Amino acid sequence: MNETLEICETFLSIQGESTFAGVPCFFIRLAGCNLRCRYCDTPYARAPGRRMTVDALADEFRRAGVRTAEVTGGEPLLQAATPGLVRALLPLGTVLIETNGTMDISTLPPDAIAIMDIKCPGSGCSEATDWCNVERLRPHDEVKFVVESRGDYEWARDVALRHKLAERCRAVLFSPTHGRLAPDELAGWILADRLNARLNMQLHKLIWPPDRRGV
Ligand code: SF4
Repeated sequence: MNETLEICETFLSIQGESTFAGVPCFFIRLAGCNLRCRYCDTPYARAPGRRMTVDALADEFRRAGVRTAEVTGGEPLLQAATPGLVRALLPLGTVLIETNGTMDISTLPPDAIAIMDIKCPGSGCSEATDWCNVERLRPHDEVKFVVESRGDYEWARDVALRHKLAERCRAVLFSPTHGRLAPDELAGWILADRLNARLNMQLHKLIWPPDRRGV
């Protein structure tokens, strides 16, 4: 396919933020984002990128020699060609799409796996969530809350319970904001509430320095 997308970077790394954490993964980071989260660790992804064709990206995934690809950003669903890219990657392996919850996820092919953020108030961007996406979640999708305070935790817990997220999708992930919330504190809150959620550490930041972008 000759459709093109604006790309920030591609790299091979260890998947760090879902139930797929730990597997070798080929990352395609698309350029551009519609949010400005306070804790954003990829602000460089908001800058204009270089154009690459769907075919060239699928070829890079094939040559990377791993079974999982993740399309991330920025916000990958801002680009109209992203569903076509995902369709081209799916015959080559498992495809994850990390999205910030503001764009319609029903445009994704059925076999793709959405890892959908629901932005907590601490991000400064929780007002932007498209709540219709909760209804669009498929059983194999995952939802992630990045939590930086007790207030964020209570907000996320209440959203998860009100929308019965654990029944709608494969996993509800609670991730402490790196360097701002101690993981043991978040673990204690989840246990105290017997919450049907999964503590999600940003594995790549435990393995390598937080600013490292991959190999
Ligand atoms: S959605 Fe992601 S890339 Fe965009 S500002 Fe927030 S953390 Fe950064």
